[in-house]
Amino acid sequence: MIDLHTHTNKSDGTDSPRELVNKAIAMGLTVLGISDHDTTAGWEEAAQTLRGGLHLVLGSEISCLTHDGISVHMLGLLFDQEHQQMQIMLEETRDGRLPRMRKMIEKMRAAGIDISMQDVEAARPEGATLGRPHLADALVNKGVISSRDQAFQGMLNNDSEFYVSHAAPTPAEAIAMIRSAGGVAVIAHPFASLRGQILQASDFQELIDAGLNGIEVDHRDHNPDERQMLRKLARDLDLVVTGSSDYHGTGKLNALAEFQTSPAEWEKLESQADKRRVVKK
Ligand code: AMP
Ligand code: ZN
Ligand code: FE
Ligand code: FE
Repeated sequence: MIDLHTHTNKSDGTDSPRELVNKAIAMGLTVLGISDHDTTAGWEEAAQTLRGGLHLVLGSEISCLTHDGISVHMLGLLFDQEHQQMQIMLEETRDGRLPRMRKMIEKMRAAGIDISMQDVEAARPEGATLGRPHLADALVNKGVISSRDQAFQGMLNNDSEFYVSHAAPTPAEAIAMIRSAGGVAVIAHPFASLRGQILQASDFQELIDAGLNGIEVDHRDHNPDERQMLRKLARDLDLVVTGSSDYHGTGKLNALAEFQTSPAEWEKLESQADKRRVVKK
């Protein structure tokens, strides 16, 4: 069982890295990828918890924005944590999430919703990349809404009047950075159309030129038609096909390992990193 895309409370998941690794071991996963949004903060704790036969793939899900304003998530796996430019890129994105949150809160307050930055900070675990899910949790705590899911179907959706984007690299810039840091780049849930505007198949050549390694095909936000289109695209472009849960603990319905990557595709992906960086104990 190989699950390459999960979140901890170092971003918007609810399990600590320790809890997540322990769950993966208890479930009998063979390979677990940890990919918190725009951070590597959970890597050390996850590696320290590792034991038995589980192989750990350290990574990050990098928030990107195209020149047309389309939000894209890029999984960077197996890159060098010491790569300075990569860490600066991640830090700049995290920094940009603060003024963005203030703007979203301002818009809500202007609409008469009782919410403040203190409320959101109280909902954010220490050291976590700040995101809309923390705003959702704060709104739940205030009794404005009932769940994260409800928030994302309404007031926190990309199409909502309250939505504000934040500064982020373009997908091609993120891919180039991941590769220069020795890692591999997999575009996450590219056809997840419920989240907002998505890339077209014709946009992929530019990403391949930047060094894209794979496409996340099997994901709960893709319907069967979208998966079929992406599988064909990956075959035509000679890209690795992955499947993953995008597990967020209790923050999302996604169950650990509900979608998986085949051993053959994983082997192909791993061989494209510049060094053998999988953590094993
Ligand atoms: P942000 O990065 O701040 O724009 O927030 C986007 C994050 O919200 C993504 O990482 C998603 O995992 C999360 N998200 C999107 N839809 C939902 C949902 N329906 N329930 C919980 N979390 C969601
Ligand atoms: Zn998330
Ligand atoms: Fe994502
Ligand atoms: Fe994710």
